[in-house]
Amino acid sequence: MAKLTIRDMNLQGKRVFTRVDYNVPLKEKGGVLVITDLTRITATVPTLNLLLQQGARIVLASHLGRPKGKTEPSMSLRPVAATLSELLGRQVAFAEDCVGPAAEQAQAALKPGELLLLENVRFHPEEEANDAAFAAKLAGTAEAYVNDAFGSAHRAHASTEGVARVVAARGGPCGAGLLMEKELKFLGEELERPAAPFVVILGGAKVSDKIKVIDRLLEKANTLLIGGAMAYTFKLAQGAQVGKSLVEPDQVAVALRALTKARARGVNLLLPVDHVAATPVAGGKVDKKGRPVTEYQNPRVIAGDNLAATEAGVDIGPATVQNFCAAIAGARTILWNGPMGMFEDKRFAEGTIAVGRAVAEASKRHGATSIIGGGDSVTALNQAGLGEQVTWMSTGGGASLEFLEGAVLPGVAALTER
Ligand code: AMP
Repeated sequence: MAKLTIRDMNLQGKRVFTRVDYNVPLKEKGGVLVITDLTRITATVPTLNLLLQQGARIVLASHLGRPKGKTEPSMSLRPVAATLSELLGRQVAFAEDCVGPAAEQAQAALKPGELLLLENVRFHPEEEANDAAFAAKLAGTAEAYVNDAFGSAHRAHASTEGVARVVAARGGPCGAGLLMEKELKFLGEELERPAAPFVVILGGAKVSDKIKVIDRLLEKANTLLIGGAMAYTFKLAQGAQVGKSLVEPDQVAVALRALTKARARGVNLLLPVDHVAATPVAGGKVDKKGRPVTEYQNPRVIAGDNLAATEAGVDIGPATVQNFCAAIAGARTILWNGPMGMFEDKRFAEGTIAVGRAVAEASKRHGATSIIGGGDSVTALNQAGLGEQVTWMSTGGGASLEFLEGAVLPGVAALTER
């Protein structure tokens, strides 16, 4: 059902509790914490500008990292207030704590058209517990609630759900910010009745993570392309030799059911027909956490399916790239979630980049609607400089996946119906 958005709300002079996603990467440089990627902050600027135009008193709340309910100076939102202030060209006040006297005083001092950023809500364990008393304190004197943090909407936390309930109980409107509105439009409405041919591309590590998405999309897709490690569980189900590829033997029956459903519904389900394989060896190195690092040696292309017992499939091969790109070229709607291989290693990124190019090309050439369902596919597209060429790149990871599964996200459910 359609949710209220800030376009529908009259917020003149109102105190608006605004949940944003400022979970930004921070790095220490010369004793100061520096934000290394501003994407999440800039993504909220259109919403903030609209709220400012309306003369709202804006109270911003977010989490940053996983401080586990304790004050953790390395996860402070203070640097974000300074950056946001520069981006908006106006002052953004900062409250040392998201509840208590610091927050109350700062909120009381807010005038129409002014902004206040509260300290990390996860410094309090009650945030993740969605504690009702904490939500009431966090809400302060808010008369309206806005959620622009799609990436956190799958969590029923105090700032994503509890505060909305408090505000709604006061008779205040709860609406989506402009970023949230777009996420709901592209991952929701557009995929409800996609223009055909609808091509879905799924990759990544595990079938178990994405089976609900596969199952739901088999109801709508014309073509389903499966790459990444996930493809090897399907191959195992078909009796192929998968060597040392990452597989989930306990998901074989699930993969077989998906293959049967695809056949029954006339969905063209394509799996890899060739592979880039490499030999994993324990090179004696360890990562930062002391875990052994696997090195991949002797990469080579293998036509057909049977990998040697010592080899793992790490990317789709060139013939598969051709098949997948041909399917993508004819699409009018495309949804992509998950890389085609271990793209973090440049040697195994070609399949993912080729698919990214084909998606961008289909969008440019005949206006296909291309939706990238968050996480690693977004990283890969941006690395290849193709991010600007697709219709929508979701800002959610887990939230996008749950939304695509058809789940009701608590942070969305809490918003007022239009
Ligand atoms: P996901 O979060 O499920 O989308 O999975 C992304 C991860 O899957 C990335 O870190 C990739 O390196 C990994 N991945 C993709 N293909 C393979 C593969 N063939 N073997 C091992 N890992 C893979």
